[in-house]
Amino acid sequence: MSLLSSFCSKKRRLSLVSWEASLVPALSWLLLIPCLLVVNSNQCLADEGMFPVSELGSLDLQAKGLKLTSDEVFNTDAERTCLVDGICKVNGCTGAFVSNKALIITNHHCAYRAIQAASTTENDYLKNGFIPSKPGEEIPAPGYTVRVTESFKDVSEQVLAAVTAEMDFAQRSKAIERRIKEIETQAESDNAGKRAEVAEMFAGKTYVLFIYTYLKDVRLVFAPPSSVGKFGGDVDNWEWPRHTGDFSFMRAYVAPDGSSASYSPENVPYQPKKFLQVSAAGANEGDFVMLLGYPGRTARHKTASFLEFEQNVRLPFVVDYFGQQIETMQAAGANDRALAIKLLSRIARLANVEKRSRGQLKGLAGANIAANRRAKEKELQDFIDAAPELKARYGQTLAKIDMAYAEAAKTAEAEANVRNLLLASQLMSFAFTVYDGAVERQKPELERESAYMTRNYDQTVARLKAGHRDLELVTDQQLLQQLLERMGEAQRASLGLPAPGQLGPLYKASQLSSAATLDAYLAMSVEQLQAVEDPFMRLIVKLYPEFQRLRELGKQRSGKFDKLYGDLVTVKQLFQKLTFVPDANATLRLTHGTVRGYSPADAIWMRPATTLAGVIAKTTGKDPFETPAEVVELFQKKDFGRYAHPELKDVPVAILYDTDTTGGNSGSPILNAQGQLVGVNFDRAFEATINDFAWNTNYSRSIGVDVRYVLWITDTVYKANFLIGEMGL
Ligand code: ASP
Repeated sequence: MSLLSSFCSKKRRLSLVSWEASLVPALSWLLLIPCLLVVNSNQCLADEGMFPVSELGSLDLQAKGLKLTSDEVFNTDAERTCLVDGICKVNGCTGAFVSNKALIITNHHCAYRAIQAASTTENDYLKNGFIPSKPGEEIPAPGYTVRVTESFKDVSEQVLAAVTAEMDFAQRSKAIERRIKEIETQAESDNAGKRAEVAEMFAGKTYVLFIYTYLKDVRLVFAPPSSVGKFGGDVDNWEWPRHTGDFSFMRAYVAPDGSSASYSPENVPYQPKKFLQVSAAGANEGDFVMLLGYPGRTARHKTASFLEFEQNVRLPFVVDYFGQQIETMQAAGANDRALAIKLLSRIARLANVEKRSRGQLKGLAGANIAANRRAKEKELQDFIDAAPELKARYGQTLAKIDMAYAEAAKTAEAEANVRNLLLASQLMSFAFTVYDGAVERQKPELERESAYMTRNYDQTVARLKAGHRDLELVTDQQLLQQLLERMGEAQRASLGLPAPGQLGPLYKASQLSSAATLDAYLAMSVEQLQAVEDPFMRLIVKLYPEFQRLRELGKQRSGKFDKLYGDLVTVKQLFQKLTFVPDANATLRLTHGTVRGYSPADAIWMRPATTLAGVIAKTTGKDPFETPAEVVELFQKKDFGRYAHPELKDVPVAILYDTDTTGGNSGSPILNAQGQLVGVNFDRAFEATINDFAWNTNYSRSIGVDVRYVLWITDTVYKANFLIGEMGL
């Protein structure tokens, strides 16, 4: 088993939360066609690829401009630190340690939930930023975790020993799930205080156990106002040219004895093995850059039928439904700042996905991606059909995958409607988690859904309570009403749901919005919950068999796709005779490239850097193009501190580069040839939203904030010079 296969993996996660969050994983992020990237071959574009760090040695990055040895970037020697030790995962994002006291730089949008949770109309950190005046002025970020990859090991044999030939798809999926939990639980007991996670690489074939340092006391250290950190808002999101200072600083803490611990004022800053050097020189056009991070998921190796499912079924639904939710929440918060604060983080999350989905639809319509993939599949099919042995084993594989998507498409919208009950209404979602938790926690540890296992339950409850603090009933009712309208009478009737106009009395009668009730329910047994009068708990109890059916269906599908895609990978390997890098799966990866422009359309050429002058030019004084007065004033005085570009005589703001990134790379440090941090990745250009399905040197461009803008804002504008000192600048 090569290190490559052992490092590239897929995290299994099935949930019932929403279409976006659950149907796609249910359809599974499995591997199909080798990506265009070939290790040790010059047949393919070397710039595509989210490489497992174990592959570094074969990339010859030195020839591309890297001035470090591969060992300095990553090695498995416990005695020698490497750049990888300075990288961490901050919830679903990436971060980098930039001091020996675990100061972390990441994106503003990654810290957004923490900023929002701490904000009130009196202390509106979203609006004004969180600007500490001295060291130690920090705010806890409940629900945040930071993890650092410590080691990894192939456990494929152990996992697959749980599967027998007689098992059906659902049984297979459950047996693998259970074995993974056993391995994780054992590994956590062998590595006290660490977090263990098994990730799947080749569907049904290859599994890797990752051991993480897992830090649970995370605090917000510095956040610029949204007028800097989210400048341009959703208008500019997924667009170039960009003028957003999308950065923030956080810090991770541990107990005084160095062990991982939940928030306590006694805790002390964690000491990372390594922290990154920040170079105030930034990055300029033509420079080599490299990113380390935790890209979430891509689907480059899936079938044309998957892409068609996305294009015709899922993405249009997401655009339409998320669009409606966003509009409703925006209207609710328009003249009520206290309410807006509660909703902003949710709006931002939905808006991000909604616009990305529009970009992907545009890309799928224009770039012929599905048709090209179909043509490749035809070649593969011809290869299979030409060899009787292959034909007997794999002759139907592609057709079966196509059929499975066609099958899923038939019920996709109805299933999404049910799952989205938990996305639309927080009351429904709280009631579900409480009841589901009670049901699952009756089971032996290894048979529970992962969220309710002892090792995860605290975080599940912490997240539930954090969400509960933002509960707002008027909008909750509106969103649920809209979903019930979407469902139509037949589906409502089949599920026993009320008509859209009948929600008022249910909301009036429910006690679930009180924190005390939530606590009381969390302490109840299944029988007790079945007996409570709360209308939302009653609804969930009634709907629960349907949620269970969908969960079971998800496992069955997952088992089926695992098996089929696994077969396809095997035969594809025979056909192409290549080694390939699988899709992103939230495990540590490296990508490299160059700061360079691009042409999004005929006759248009985009330069790869923006400046403060551009921020000022875009400023209208109206959200999302407001700029803080301090920023405007310093710009007018030409006070750029030591952060001006020597030739431009202006502060560089954002840069564009052709690395291979996706969601989860948010917050990834942009590293120069010496491995120094010169910026922070936060987005992609509109055309590059399609990256998730197909990377292309013409349109795949990532966007990062230039470190000079980060430092200018932190130091010159907001005078948090102690942070600059802490970073050793
Ligand atoms: N801005 C992106 C995100 O929201 C980062 C990316 O997908 O490139 O995750």
